[in-house]
This record gives sequence, structure tokens and C-alpha cells, in this order.
Amino acid sequence: MKSVDEYRGIVSDKVIAEIYAKGTRLNKRHVIHINSTYQGGGVAEILHNLVILMNDIGIDTGWRIVPGTPGFFTTTKRMHNALQGESLDMKLIHKDYYQGNNEKFAVFTHIDHDCVIVHDPQPLPFIKYVHKKQPWIWRCHIDISNPHEELWDYIKTFILRYDVMIISDGKYRRNDLPIEQRIIMPSIDPLSPKNCDISQQEIDHYIEYYNIPLDKPIMLQISRFDKWKDPQGVVEVFKRVRKEVDCRLILCGNAATDDPEGAEIYQHVATDNQDLIEKRELLLITAEDNLMVNALQRIAAVVLQKSLREGFGLTVTEAMWKARPVVASNVGGIPNQIQSNKTGILVDPANFDECAEAVLRILKDEAFAHRLGAGAREFVRQHFLITRHLREYLELLLEVL
Ligand code: UDP
Repeated sequence: MKSVDEYRGIVSDKVIAEIYAKGTRLNKRHVIHINSTYQGGGVAEILHNLVILMNDIGIDTGWRIVPGTPGFFTTTKRMHNALQGESLDMKLIHKDYYQGNNEKFAVFTHIDHDCVIVHDPQPLPFIKYVHKKQPWIWRCHIDISNPHEELWDYIKTFILRYDVMIISDGKYRRNDLPIEQRIIMPSIDPLSPKNCDISQQEIDHYIEYYNIPLDKPIMLQISRFDKWKDPQGVVEVFKRVRKEVDCRLILCGNAATDDPEGAEIYQHVATDNQDLIEKRELLLITAEDNLMVNALQRIAAVVLQKSLREGFGLTVTEAMWKARPVVASNVGGIPNQIQSNKTGILVDPANFDECAEAVLRILKDEAFAHRLGAGAREFVRQHFLITRHLREYLELLLEVL
């Protein structure tokens, strides 16, 4: 198991000492995180790393997932989409599944912790079905700046029961919520298999294992097959780019157990681009493999994140940490990470030509690509590593407990 002192050399000793000092004051406190999947997507990625470090510094930290029926996850995915601004017929929101599932979860899940941290809308109503006697925090990972109003009003019923809500960006702050809203940006773990340094030999192994040809520069997007990640839009950008520079596109997308839309979107991309796939100009990878993601991010000539909405965008941070030049949408939490032309390039995702031009600029100018990558890695070191994230959680826990 990892421990905080292993981050020495990546962050300053001051950061490490601060974490220990705060951790001591929380020693043997009992905290629980609740979300809806152990695998797939950014929330699970963060919790796999954060929970271990919270335990390492002496906070007894657990992690549970709310299980669900397909009906429950279809409803919660519709909620997720509508909270990010998609239109919605409220009749399609099965409140009985949503609340009933959480009510049942409460029968199986007994809460006697000192603090409960609930992630995203799936387990949000759980609070209604337990005897609340401690601070509860709702950690919202999505962009809620323009939610479907009726749905927002409905989920507010549950949010109002919480003591604090965490959001990833000041833009997501809601004026209609009387509870405290705290900004904590997500992070990556530089020591996790997905982000740790790996040798050229290991990279070669994964590239060979996944049968990835290296004869052309690689454009890469790593993302669940999700409408907000716009995989078909990435293909359209790729088609424009390869008119000028011969390259290959890899779309790598695993499945999250709480996302029922992935298979259908994958199928669309596969069917609509059969010719590119047959010629191996476009590779679709669906394997779940952190070291493979690590290797892919290191061999890419350019990494894309053409999201239409993005609460934060860990895939951007991950590529930046590997000093890759990134072209990413100027939406949601991404502009917090990318200062355009310094730590990557920000683009309007609706403007395919602009996206293609940014990619081409990187592919044609190695020195520029290198400068972007170097700036990116340093920016992530300063702002988006798990040590900063952990410290901010500790500060919040010290306040609420
Ligand atoms: N991811 C992965 N394999 C894939 C696709 C995504 O491991 O095929 C990981 C990715 O590396 C990142 C997380 O899933 O750690 C996605 O987080 P992000 O914040 O980018 O998006 P979300 O899926 O939460 O919307």
C-alpha cells in the first residue's frame, strides 16, 4: 500500500509535513465515501487513490458503492445528462427507482461514521433514509452551471439535507443553494499505475500487446464512449488533420458500470467509421488497463479532449503530467488546467477546423509541442497532484468535524 512519504521528491517536504500535521488531528476519525462504481470514470479513479492515502495518515476511511438495477442507472444517467444541460422529459425520471434504490441501500448500509462523503447524483438521496447524526458532504463532480431547472429543483430536495457541497469550479456555484459550497479541484496520483513513470521496455510491451502500429504519429483521445466526450467529433477532426499530415487516431474508452449508454455510442462510432477501422487508420480500444493507458498517453504525438461538457477532465491532467501536448475544449474545468499556448491549446469544440489547426500546429512544430508538454507537466505538479487534493479534504474535514 502506498504511503504519503513516497511522494517526497515529487512535491516539497513542506507539503508532506502539512498533510501529516493535519492528519494527526483527524487520527482514528471514521469517514466513508459513497459513489456508484468501483471502476470506470474519474470518480472511481480518484477514490482508488485518495482512500488509500486517507487511511495511510490514520483516518479510518471506507468506500462503498450504491448498487443499482438497470432502471436505476438509466434514470441516473438521464439525470447526469440533464444536469449538464440536456433537455429532458421529467416523466423519464423514475423517482421510484431513484429513491427506492437508495432507500434499499440504506437498509444494507449502516452509518455510524464521523463524516459521510457522497459523490454525484446516484447516491444523493441516501441521506434521506438514514438517521443523520454527523456532517454529510455532497461532492458534485459534474458541470451544474446550466442544469435542467425542474430536475435541479427535484434534486435540491436532497442537497438541502447536506452540510457542505463540493464543486470543481467557481463557475458551478449555485446562488439558489443556502448550504456552503466549497471548491476543490480533482487531481491525479503520480504514483498510480496510470501515471507512474514506466520504462521504454514497458511501453514497448504494451504497444506490442495491444498491437499498435507506430509507423505514423498518433492522435489519442482516452474517454468513455459518451456523447459529452464527442468521439465522432474527434474522428471528424482527425479526417481534417490527415489531409495534411498522415497520422493515426486511437479512441480508447472503457465501460463504467454506472453508465448504460457506452455500448450504444461505441457501436455508432464503430459502424460509422468502418472503412477507417478496416484500414487501421482508426483504432478503437475498450480494454480496462491502467498501464496501457499510461503507455498510450506517452506515445501519443498529440492528445485530444474534445469534450462538449467536462466537470474537470482527468484525462487532460494525466496527459499533461506525461508532458504531452494536449488540444482540449474550452469548456467546464478544462480551462483551469490549460493556459492556451503555454500548457496546451484550448479550442472551441464546435469548430472542427480550429481543432484540426491546433493539432496540426503541434504535429508540425516539434519544439512548440515540446514546450507545451514541459509547461503542462510543471503546471500539474503545482496544482493537480493528489497531495494538494488530500490536503484540501483534510482542511474541510477539520472544519466540519
Ligand atoms: N479511463 C480509463 N480507460 C479508458 C477511458 C478512461 O482508464 O478507456 C480513465 C481515464 O484515464 C480517467 C478517467 O477514466 O482517469 C476519466 O476521468 P475524466 O475526469 O476524464 O472523465 P469522466 O469519465 O469522469 O467523465
